[in-house]
Amino acid sequence: MAEEQQQHLPNSVEVAVIGAGVVGCSIAYQLAKRGKSVAVFDQRGIGSGASGRNGGMTGTGSALHSSGGEAIYALTSENFSMLQDELARELDDDFSLLVTGGIDIATNEEQADFLKAAVSRQQENDIDVEWLNGQEARDLVPALSEHIYGVEWKRYSGHLWPFQLVHALANGARYYNARFITHTPVTRILTSNGTATGIETAFGSVEAGAVVVATNAWTRSLLPDLPEGAIVPSRGQILVTQPVGQILPMPFSTNYDKEYGRQTHSGQILCGGFRRLDVDEGLGHFTEEVHPPAVGGIANCLATIFPKMRDLKVVRTWAGLMGFTADGLPMIGSYGDTKGLFVAAGFNGGGFSYAVATGKAMAQLVANGRSTLDLEPFDPNRFASGTASWDNPFTAGEQNNPGKLTLDA
Ligand SMILES: Cc1cc2nc3c(=O)[nH]c(=O)nc-3n(C[C@H](O)[C@H](O)[C@H](O)COP(=O)(O)OP(=O)(O)OC[C@H]3O[C@@H](n4cnc5c(N)ncnc54)[C@H](O)[C@@H]3O)c2cc1C
Repeated sequence: MAEEQQQHLPNSVEVAVIGAGVVGCSIAYQLAKRGKSVAVFDQRGIGSGASGRNGGMTGTGSALHSSGGEAIYALTSENFSMLQDELARELDDDFSLLVTGGIDIATNEEQADFLKAAVSRQQENDIDVEWLNGQEARDLVPALSEHIYGVEWKRYSGHLWPFQLVHALANGARYYNARFITHTPVTRILTSNGTATGIETAFGSVEAGAVVVATNAWTRSLLPDLPEGAIVPSRGQILVTQPVGQILPMPFSTNYDKEYGRQTHSGQILCGGFRRLDVDEGLGHFTEEVHPPAVGGIANCLATIFPKMRDLKVVRTWAGLMGFTADGLPMIGSYGDTKGLFVAAGFNGGGFSYAVATGKAMAQLVANGRSTLDLEPFDPNRFASGTASWDNPFTAGEQNNPGKLTLDA
C-alpha cells in the first residue's frame, strides 16, 4: 500500500489541499475550475470525516451570533444560493436539496425569549424569519407536541444528501484535472524562508506553491502553533429510525441548535444532539464511537417533541467529529505570517451552510490574494493572542443543560 501511494504522489502541484471533506472538495473544485493544478490529500477517503456523518441540514444566517452576523448571513446566503443555482447548474446535480424552510423549537420560556429576540433582530435586518406560537407552529408541523412554547420559522433553509454534494464537488474538481490522493496522511507542512513550499505525507513529500488546510477537527495536528482551545474535536451522534410516511415537512432544531433532525428522502427520521451525555460532553476525543447515553437522550428528545414518533424503531446510529472553535465561528483565510498557507476549518455544527461559498472565497484568496466575500470575522489568526476561551455558550461546554428533555405536562 505504501509503495502504491508513493508511486502516485505528484512531484509538485500549484495548490495542495489537505482534507477531502465538503470544504476541501469545494476549495479544490473552485481552484481547479480557475485553472490551478490541485491535489487533495486525505488520511482516509473522500467524505470520511464529518462531511459523511452529519445531519444534512443547511440554511442561512444563525440566530446564535449577534457579532459577525452580517458576514455570517452574507456567506451562508451565498452558500444557499450557490447550492440552488450556480453550483447545481455547473455540476448538473441537485444534491437532493429540498428548500422546505425549518423551525427552531422553544421547549421552555428561556429558549422562547431567546428566539423571539433573535427573530426581532433578524427582522430588523430584513431577514425572512417569523416567531410562531405553539398553535401556529402545529398548523405548520402537526406532529409537534402541544407543550412546546413556539418556534422560530426560517423560510430560507432546507436539507440535502451530504454524500451527494461532497462527491459532486469531487467529481467536478476531477473534471478540471484535480487529483484526489486518499489514505495518505499529511504529517507536516513544509516551509522555507516564511513561505509554504509543500507537504510531507506518510509516503513522501510534494512541493506546492500554496497549501490549504481543510482538516476541521484535526487541524491542530498540522498547525501546532494554533492556541490550545481555538479548535477542538467535538463528537456528535445521530440516530435514524425506520421509514414512516410524511410526518416532518421540514427540519427542526431545538435547545440553541444542540438537538436537530429531519425526515430523509427515504422517510426515515434522523435526529442528533445530546453531546452533554457523552464522555466529557464529547469534547477533546478523536474516536468516532457511539456512546449509548447520548443516543438515549436523542431518542427521548424526539419522542418528547413529537409524541407520535414515540414508537418508532431506531435502525442505525453513528458518530462523527466536528471542529468546534472557541467563539463558534469558522476559521477561513491566510494563516499566520507564512506566505502561501491558508486554513478553512472549524465549521462547528454547520459546515453545510458555509462550505460551497467558502470554496469560492478561498479560491479567490489563493488565486487573486483577496475575496469578494467579507471574511474578517472568520480570520484564523484571531486566537493568536493565546487567550482563546469558550465564550460561545451555545457550542461550547454544555453542563448548564439538563440531561433529559422534558416538557411541562
Ligand atoms: C453528527 C454530526 C452532525 C452534523 N450535522 C450537521 C448538519 O445537519 N448541518 C451542517 O451544516 N453541518 C452538520 N455537521 C457539521 C458538518 O458535518 C461539518 O461542519 C462539515 O462536514 C465540515 O466539513 P470539513 O470538510 O471542514 O471537515 P471534514 O468533513 O471533517 O473533513 C476533514 C478531512 O480532513 C481529513 N484529514 C484530517 N487530518 C488530516 C491529515 N493530517 N492528513 C490528511 N487528511 C486529513 C479527514 O480525514 C477528513 O476527511 C454535523 C457534524 C456531525 C459530526
